[in-house]
Amino acid sequence: MSTAQSTDVVVVGSGPTGLTLAHELALAGVRVIVIDKLADPNEHSKALGLQPRTVEVLDMRGLLGAVLERSLTQVPDAHFAGLPVVMNYRGWGSRHPYGVIIPQDRVEGVLEEALAARYGIEVRRSHELVDLEQDADGVTATVATPHGAVRLRSRYLVGCDGSRSAVRKRLGVAFPGTRTAFSGVVADVTLKKGADALGERPKSIRDLLGVDKAHQDRMTWPLVPLQNGLYRVVWGIYGRGETDADRPVTEAEVHDSVRLRYGDAVEVDEIRWLSRFTDSAYQAEHYRRGRVLLAGDAAHVHLPAAGQGLNLGVQDAMNLGWKLAAEVAGWAPAGLLDSYHGERHPIGASVVENTRAQAVLTNPSEEYDGLRAIFVQLLRMGPVSHYLAGMVSGLDIRYPMPGSGTDELTGARMPDPDLTVDGAERPLSTLLRSGRGLLLTTGATRRWGTLADAWAGRVDAVTAAALPDVPADAVLVRPDGYVCWAATASDHTAPERLTDALETWFGAPGPTPPRSEAAPEAAVSH
Ligand SMILES: Cc1cc2nc3c(=O)[nH]c(=O)nc-3n(C[C@H](O)[C@H](O)[C@H](O)COP(=O)(O)OP(=O)(O)OC[C@H]3O[C@@H](n4cnc5c(N)ncnc54)[C@H](O)[C@@H]3O)c2cc1C
Repeated sequence: MSTAQSTDVVVVGSGPTGLTLAHELALAGVRVIVIDKLADPNEHSKALGLQPRTVEVLDMRGLLGAVLERSLTQVPDAHFAGLPVVMNYRGWGSRHPYGVIIPQDRVEGVLEEALAARYGIEVRRSHELVDLEQDADGVTATVATPHGAVRLRSRYLVGCDGSRSAVRKRLGVAFPGTRTAFSGVVADVTLKKGADALGERPKSIRDLLGVDKAHQDRMTWPLVPLQNGLYRVVWGIYGRGETDADRPVTEAEVHDSVRLRYGDAVEVDEIRWLSRFTDSAYQAEHYRRGRVLLAGDAAHVHLPAAGQGLNLGVQDAMNLGWKLAAEVAGWAPAGLLDSYHGERHPIGASVVENTRAQAVLTNPSEEYDGLRAIFVQLLRMGPVSHYLAGMVSGLDIRYPMPGSGTDELTGARMPDPDLTVDGAERPLSTLLRSGRGLLLTTGATRRWGTLADAWAGRVDAVTAAALPDVPADAVLVRPDGYVCWAATASDHTAPERLTDALETWFGAPGPTPPRSEAAPEAAVSH
């Protein structure tokens, strides 16, 4: 075994959650090592879609342009359980009221390239976490590599290592949930025949729906055109989850499934990738144990209904990143790191719950026809459609925090209007690219800006000409884009509440320890 190598945080897993977290930590000047057991970046994609809240946070960090460049298309609408009434995101006040259709490997590519280009951090591949121990000062991870086992010593370790998380198992964190009744398959294939009949890339979420339930034991979804001549095949069977979950899929099943839906009109040529998925729904009881934390699929798994899992993981990482960075930097107020579990566990539980509801609504059995019919009627009602679109997109997230019951902004995500700052127009989200908190005032509230002076380095104070379409004249925004204080110019309690909010989220006033820009990694020792 090699000598231990030390760093601030070890991130286990370079999926979308681990890469987003590594970004957030590196942005805050934390030294990070990212390991992944795979020898090469993933070339296959479970997820095909990004929800609007993820689009917003990518924009907030200057990564959206690269993601859109590699995307297949954008869709302005959403679905719930594949029911035939689609929903839209209008009414949630987003600059990006659309979903992005992009294979997961391309999202990971953008994040991994940016991590290397911006911070010089390369994912250490063929590095598999096999054990970990923690003590009062840190965590020691044992990692299997092609050159033998190495030990990594860090102040914190985060398991972003997917649904079968070795980190979660080593911690002994309970993962209760419901076992599977549904077994689905995704396959990426090329076609010998029929591509012309399938049309172009989806322009609406409607193009991805239209499940064929004619064969009661097998539901097939329309083929989705991907990139480079690839098409995605998806089918699923209810009542067979337990027996199918670990059985390898055969090539004959893929051919049969396409034939069932398209007859002789479409014929599969090569099968490039095959994977099973189920409606198993589990959630870790605790997202933190001491110096080890869990995020993404390591903390929750569920049916990929309405495309929420990747987004949930990215939002976990955005919530955790700045809090963990504050802890490492030494300015975190008491309870900040624990608020990660406090804020994110209920959100994870609610996604698990809505996917379980969708699993029931998708079940083709006649006994659910009545339920489906009622849900379709409900979806035609504006407020219901608005509510569910907010739920699956992550745009509705509100974190309970002091003041969140008293105004409509506190606890919610900060809107992203165009602002005029120092005579130049810019989207508000660009002011959050630093990864620091933001105290935004206007002409009438400019005097409150100096209250943040004692938090310089943790909070940027900016004055804009106005806050268009925002029901406040000043706001304090956390690094993850959520409002933690808001006030109108006439609010006499505002300065006192602002100081409280600064202490609650950004710690005691005083000098902020300097960031180690582009934190260097320690040399590898074997
Ligand atoms: C069929 C299907 C379709 C989906 N569609 C969507 C969608 O459209 N939209 C959406 O939002 N979500 C979707 N999802 C869910 C989404 O794919 C996952 O939620 C997402 O991949 C979770 O990201 P993650 O980074 O948490 O975990 P993962 O993507 O699983 O990444 C975990 C990483 O950890 C590494 N690792 C594992 N163990 C170790 C170890 N011991 N040591 C080192 N490294 C390790 C793995 O190699 C992997 O790279 C879909 C899922 C499925 C199955």
